[in-house]
Amino acid sequence: MNNHTYEHSAPLGDKHNGGRAVTLKYLDDGTPVICKPRNAKTEMAFAQLLNGYKNLGLSCVPNGVEVLFAGEKYNEQAYVHHLPARSEEDVRKYFFNCGVTVFLTYMLGSYDLHCENIIASLDSPVIIDLETLLSAEIVKRNAAYGVADLSESVLKSHLLPNWIALDSEMRDCSGFSGALNGSKNILFYNNDPQMAYIYADTVISGFEKAYELSLKNRERIKDLIEKFGDCTFRQLLRPTDVYDKIIRFCAAVDDMQSRRSAAYALLARAYENDIDPNRIKKAEKLLRYEIESVLQGDIPLFVSHGNSINLYNCDEETLFENFYCKSPVECAISRLYSLNEADMKSQTKIIIQALSAAKPVTQTKTCVSEKLDNISLVFDILEKYVIPAISSKWMLLDFGRADSLFLQSAGLGIYNGLLGILCFYAAAYYRTGQSKYLEKLFDYYSSYRKITAESIAAIPLSDDSCSFSNGMGGQLSALYHIYELTGQKIFYNDFINILNRISLQNVNIKNTEIMGGAVSLALVLPKADTPIAKDIAGVLAPYLLQAKPTLTGMAHGAAGLSLALSAIGAVLNSNDYDEKISELLAFENSYYFEDEGNWQDLRYESRKSFMLGWCAGAPGIAMARKRMLEYTRNSAIAKVCEDDIKRASRVLGKADCLKRDSLCCGNSAILAVCSFLGLENSQIFAELESRLRTLSLNMYHPLDTCDINCGLMQGFAGVGYALAMYGDPFCGGMMV
Ligand SMILES: [Zn+2]
Repeated sequence: MNNHTYEHSAPLGDKHNGGRAVTLKYLDDGTPVICKPRNAKTEMAFAQLLNGYKNLGLSCVPNGVEVLFAGEKYNEQAYVHHLPARSEEDVRKYFFNCGVTVFLTYMLGSYDLHCENIIASLDSPVIIDLETLLSAEIVKRNAAYGVADLSESVLKSHLLPNWIALDSEMRDCSGFSGALNGSKNILFYNNDPQMAYIYADTVISGFEKAYELSLKNRERIKDLIEKFGDCTFRQLLRPTDVYDKIIRFCAAVDDMQSRRSAAYALLARAYENDIDPNRIKKAEKLLRYEIESVLQGDIPLFVSHGNSINLYNCDEETLFENFYCKSPVECAISRLYSLNEADMKSQTKIIIQALSAAKPVTQTKTCVSEKLDNISLVFDILEKYVIPAISSKWMLLDFGRADSLFLQSAGLGIYNGLLGILCFYAAAYYRTGQSKYLEKLFDYYSSYRKITAESIAAIPLSDDSCSFSNGMGGQLSALYHIYELTGQKIFYNDFINILNRISLQNVNIKNTEIMGGAVSLALVLPKADTPIAKDIAGVLAPYLLQAKPTLTGMAHGAAGLSLALSAIGAVLNSNDYDEKISELLAFENSYYFEDEGNWQDLRYESRKSFMLGWCAGAPGIAMARKRMLEYTRNSAIAKVCEDDIKRASRVLGKADCLKRDSLCCGNSAILAVCSFLGLENSQIFAELESRLRTLSLNMYHPLDTCDINCGLMQGFAGVGYALAMYGDPFCGGMMV
């Protein structure tokens, strides 16, 4: 290496490297060389892995970096130039190699491969920073569910399009499509950037070829993974932005002593949440190291070794013994052995999702086949966009700000989660009798059962766990409705089983509204033929009796509360609640305006506003009143209900189309209520159908987002549901 002269040297790359910077130097002939202050074992092991796949018969494999000099604590690598494709064949190979890279990084457990760590060069993406190629595992994952969630999917590597909040703006910084100031990760051909979503098929074929080879050659690949045994990897203990915040907070504190104690307080508290509290004592050395780094304005650099479960600092001192439950190499090998055909399919689906998420929105509108009816159309959209990733996490595709799409996990709830979406499958089966809908319903429901019906011991009666939107209140409503539509006993049995597991100890109810409160449970009690229904009714009653109405409407206001109370009255066979019910109705009706034909939405104090949704306004209020008629034996209350239904009906049958389309707040809500009340509104039906076909649905929600998703109350599933159930009085049974 003596023939090198150092003409220029500048630090490159990430800051969190323990003060040892990567530098660039030039040889006499001007050739640039990258100098890294550590050994090149990872680069070499990765090159062997790539070569191994080539030997197993993979038609092309990505390029690794070329190591020019490998020392114990220093290495030099050929500079990777950002070069355009020379031919269409280069472009094809490039995207095939992207697919192979997605697979390899998925198997190895790579993360943080954002756009600054990848260079697009001729026919291959080249990962230039391999420090996060493998990762160790902190928590033991539940083996029964295999891959636990999206954080363990192909999305983990960060190569696929993925929006994150950056400087309070949603941006794509992913390895394949993200482009930050001067990043070189996008391939050009004839001066045009080549976007991965156009080559999705090629990416998938690279991914599948590498996946299939791995299924057939596990032993040989295991040997190759073991070569990472004496490599070291950078480990991030907390998200970089958390460190950033802590660093900034501490820097603003004046004297050193208080600065140190501020850092201690913030970091130690984070440990209580992040790590098993029993380990905090053991974590003191680690904590001290973290505090020192943060006080110096550095993001702490942690290191793990390929074959070790200890955590080290950048000087290779052990900070915490047995920190991980599996070493990076063990993790990768166990991932290798858990690969299977079903996983390949679901990961492939995630890749397609993620890549199409990078499409400009105008281009997502062309994928609908004209021949499909409404139900199959929504079914197809859901099958395409909603991914039941092996356990509880479902993935939804959302339109985020700036019209970009991003992926996010949804829970189990009725509002936008799994059980809500299953209401659509039940409706599709109910209206068509086609077994494919029932099969899918059972298929997805089985994953729900695993984590609820089969395994929950006790459900606390609290707002968090029993709300309508995300909790058991809504899930039970959905279960009962699915039973109603499919006639399948399993849904009723689970409905009763889950209800029986609601624990009446440690009741925690603060929110007396249907949407976010445990009082939403009251809605299902008359539907449940089980003694616990009476017990729950007895516990909920006093909360509702004390509730002071401040809003109108079903989701947040008096309509929901009065319905909940009359459900309780019916279950307990008592008219003790009639006075309060009448009070709630009178409150609500004092905000009815004849010229609007609607109830004022009191959430916006500054202006007089009216909504036509399930959550607020005439549709939800009319549904609540109709249901109350089934429960009440008080003729005065019944009279109010009938009058209110008449008032609402006058508006709903001839209501004009709204801008918004969701089942919670828009056209689908009007349509659902019309069906529930035996009314028609063919104008809204036709308009909603046409919006669905052109995918120009308007799903934005008042909470200042313009998101669109696949869920029931705010997404595609709800539009599909309202269209499928149009004209049927069972429509909307789960909403009241
Ligand atoms: Zn709403």
